Amino acid sequence: MSRVIGIDLGTTNSCVAILEDGQPVVVPNTGGYKTTPSIFAVTEDGKRLVGHLAKRQAITNATNTVYAAKRLIGRAYDSPEVARARDLLPYKLVQGPNNDTRVEVAGRVYTLPEISGIVLREMKRVAEEYLGETVQQAVITVPAYFNDAQRQTTRDSGRIAGLEVLRIINEPTAAALSYGFGRDDSEKIVVYDLGGGTFDVSILEMGKGVIEVLSTCGDTHLGGEDFDRRIVEWLLEDFHGRQGVQLGDDTMALQRLKDAAEKAKCDLSQVQSTEVNLPFIAADAEENPLHMSALLGREQLEELVGDLVERTSSICQRALEDAQLSVDDIDQVLLVGGQTRMPLVQKFVAEFFGKTPHKGVNPDEVVAVGASIQASMLGEDQEGPLLVDVTPLSLGIATYGGRFARLIERNTTVPTSRQEIFTTTRENQTAVKIRVLQGESEVADENDLLGEFVLSGIRPAPKGDPEIEVTFDIDANGIVGVSAKDLETDQEQSIEVNPRGLLSPEELEKLADEYRGDDEVAVKG
Ligand code: AMP
Repeated sequence: MSRVIGIDLGTTNSCVAILEDGQPVVVPNTGGYKTTPSIFAVTEDGKRLVGHLAKRQAITNATNTVYAAKRLIGRAYDSPEVARARDLLPYKLVQGPNNDTRVEVAGRVYTLPEISGIVLREMKRVAEEYLGETVQQAVITVPAYFNDAQRQTTRDSGRIAGLEVLRIINEPTAAALSYGFGRDDSEKIVVYDLGGGTFDVSILEMGKGVIEVLSTCGDTHLGGEDFDRRIVEWLLEDFHGRQGVQLGDDTMALQRLKDAAEKAKCDLSQVQSTEVNLPFIAADAEENPLHMSALLGREQLEELVGDLVERTSSICQRALEDAQLSVDDIDQVLLVGGQTRMPLVQKFVAEFFGKTPHKGVNPDEVVAVGASIQASMLGEDQEGPLLVDVTPLSLGIATYGGRFARLIERNTTVPTSRQEIFTTTRENQTAVKIRVLQGESEVADENDLLGEFVLSGIRPAPKGDPEIEVTFDIDANGIVGVSAKDLETDQEQSIEVNPRGLLSPEELEKLADEYRGDDEVAVKG
């Protein structure tokens, strides 16, 4: 049997690990790097690039370079998130047939599972090159806060990459698994994960062969890229003040600024001040070149982003409340995600939880390492701790008056199944529409619509008479299935909730075929 690999499919970077002789190993790519940018690009001459090669040419080919696609996964094209992304991202977003979001690169439209699939295929290739054998199965991690649509899309991406996804696990759970590897202690740990695009905090209890998630909270719109944007805004303002020129519309200049901002931010995790130098960034009215040169200090950076770090505070508080714990109950804090390398973030975490975060894990690799541990457990049926995870968002259906009827509360242990009886609201009503929603608002429309279906064939009866049993199932991957049954006629309808943008099995197979066999495929037609 071939090896099962663990992949951390990140917003900014991805990482692959395997277990070798019982020890996790993070697999370096051809360039020797242990993480690979989650970036895909098509060059002017039609070549597809992934990873570092794609990142390196991003400045000169910004409109055909796709990064941070994970932020768009499973999101409706007309959602506020995508509207915001349209303003920020240099590449073109287009509306798919199910109101899903797609990207147009070099004149061709790609679905988001395809983009992630291309990145996953690269990670598969990295592992295969290292192992000298083909790999067919993987465990892939997702943010704990991912909803059903986002999880299903990730699973589809794996299929497009030619991988059977044995399990989707939450990033914090993977981090805890990695931390707990070889340890026996009973501990309550916090995983504080601030990555490129998302923030999550989870509280887990480890001990006696079980890792149990007690609570998880997060913000899918908070990450390192927001920090970068603050620096870009500051640089733009500074440049405008000095030179009187607005750079806001120049895609290439903005891409250069974005890169320089991120670099300055990372430098400031090490040093107290850094210089941003961007020669020939613009020209004045007489076509004379203008150069950017700005000095940014750590303190100033901290002022620019202080509120972003502060925003994680209420989320940590909620995670503690959901777990019914106080900070004194916490034994260990793990930092995950590149942005936690920032001293201000570490200071905040240390102050909030009253203890210095654990230094023994590498925030860029710990999630992939955990995935590889889970992968080897699933692949070789090895003994390992039992993972008990929770669903991050409440699930329910829309009922009369636009209300949200919750069947499963957030932070319920998965897998789980819940049933509840509903009824009709009109005389002789013979059909009901079941609208499946995920979210925390009491108002149905404020939550995410996962899917809808109609149960028909209900016997005509006075309103309120029929008994319609609605059942929700969440499997170990966090993926939701819903069914509705008329208890009198035994009529039943069910869906594996089929959210927007999901590809049919035939479409998936076709795409998997297209990308099969090589890692740098030629552009078709
Ligand atoms: P991840 O999604 O975990 O790969 O995190 C990527 C984010 O971490 C990006 O926004 C990076 O700019 C940020 N990052 C990486 N290294 C550092 C560093 N040394 N200091 C501050 N931020 C960093």
